[in-house]
Amino acid sequence: MGRIQRLRTLFYTKQLSMRDYYTALLARIQSAPGNAFISFFDDEVATAIDYLSQQDPNRFTGFGIPLGIKDNMCLANQPVTCASKLLAGYRSPYTATAVQYMIDQGFVPVGRLNMDEFAMGSANEYSVYGPVDNPWNPDAVSGGSSGGSAAAVAAGLVPAALGSDTGGSIRQPAAFCGVVGLKPTYGRVSRYGLVAFASSLDQIGPFAQYVDDVAIMLDTLCGFDPQDATSVKRPDECFSDGFEWASLHGIRVGVPNELMTSGQADVNAAIRRTLSQMESHGAIIDYVDFKYFDEALATYYIIAPAEASSNLSRFDGVRYGYRDTSATTLKDMMAATRSTGFGDEVKRRIILGTYVLSSGYYDAFYGKAQRVRGIVTKRYADLFKQYDIICSPTAPTTAFKKGEHTNDPLAMYLSDIATIPVNLAGLPAISLPCGRDSAGMPVGMQLVAPWFQEKLLLNTAYCVEQLVGFTPLVSDDVVLGQ
Ligand code: GLN
Repeated sequence: MGRIQRLRTLFYTKQLSMRDYYTALLARIQSAPGNAFISFFDDEVATAIDYLSQQDPNRFTGFGIPLGIKDNMCLANQPVTCASKLLAGYRSPYTATAVQYMIDQGFVPVGRLNMDEFAMGSANEYSVYGPVDNPWNPDAVSGGSSGGSAAAVAAGLVPAALGSDTGGSIRQPAAFCGVVGLKPTYGRVSRYGLVAFASSLDQIGPFAQYVDDVAIMLDTLCGFDPQDATSVKRPDECFSDGFEWASLHGIRVGVPNELMTSGQADVNAAIRRTLSQMESHGAIIDYVDFKYFDEALATYYIIAPAEASSNLSRFDGVRYGYRDTSATTLKDMMAATRSTGFGDEVKRRIILGTYVLSSGYYDAFYGKAQRVRGIVTKRYADLFKQYDIICSPTAPTTAFKKGEHTNDPLAMYLSDIATIPVNLAGLPAISLPCGRDSAGMPVGMQLVAPWFQEKLLLNTAYCVEQLVGFTPLVSDDVVLGQ
């Protein structure tokens, strides 16, 4: 049983006082090293506990469960900065649908979590608040862009956190920090109230230590939202119900050769070891050439910056947050605000995106990228005629050292080679820990399922989790206040 179910039961049965638990929890997370949290919702937490203590616990899936929120999701009247100077001082006028769904089910947002500026990055080093430590080794990066979310769960500060994934930002930090992270099918979870990076790729998803925690969170997060034009109407499904232990039997797993031959040797070894355990429990493992990883990476770095350049044009010093007051004309003020408000990586993306969309280059870059996106999507559709699940390392390496890739954007971009094609195709995917490398750092395994097959995805992940028996960095008892 995961942490959410156990904590919920402790509250239900009054074995644990919610008030005492939160007093201790807030003290612990406010003094925790690592820079995962950037602010706390003390007053809101107090109000939520008062409210919940008068309710029937049975009505709430997440009765009293502390939730960390990535700093790109709106919570009414709270700051939301996307870890950027540009949004300094800005407060959300409303609450994101996904966050609201969690609150409605009794989850209690406790604070905002660090991230790469505007979710652009793979190490959480591009944050105005500074980098997040990897809880397994503070000299290593947490991964990104949802580094705060992954690190907060791994360090046992919260049993549940929300992140967003545009090219791997849930799965890669989950892998680096030894926790579980799920990116739902595009359209499954509302993006309303998520500050947009690349709208055709962005998706909110859950982080937790165990697969069944993530399943409970997905139950709560998904649902049609008329406020998001890409939200999809689906029949009700329960993802957390009845994981079947025997269900690896006959599951056809395709493993892309390209991701098993490049990358860190002990990462690949951990994946192979897990694959053979899966095989001995009935899975049918087959190696296959995916063929388009390099093309997918290049395509993402045209499409995502193109959409970002458009989405981020609204941050002009007039309507949101920070304004550079050194200029004397409106135009100069906007230029100065954007020059001094955005960090280097964000500016790199805006320049790249503006270029690929500019007249004369649009067809050569953006048009072509859209066609390649279609080819990548079709490749997955073809693979899913043969396989139920595509499996690989989540990232080619374990968490690298801070500063190692900061001045080499291409090296940083390559860390998402396995995750990015999944976003281009809009598929659901999960990363779960499957061992550790020779330095003791966690290795993540990525499982990808066909569109809207989260049930199959979670069920398979649950079986793999049982086979691996990964030991979390922080014991459940610490997280449960026991
Ligand atoms: N690391 C990738 C990037 O920098 C993906 C980021 C994300 O998923 N938000 O764009």
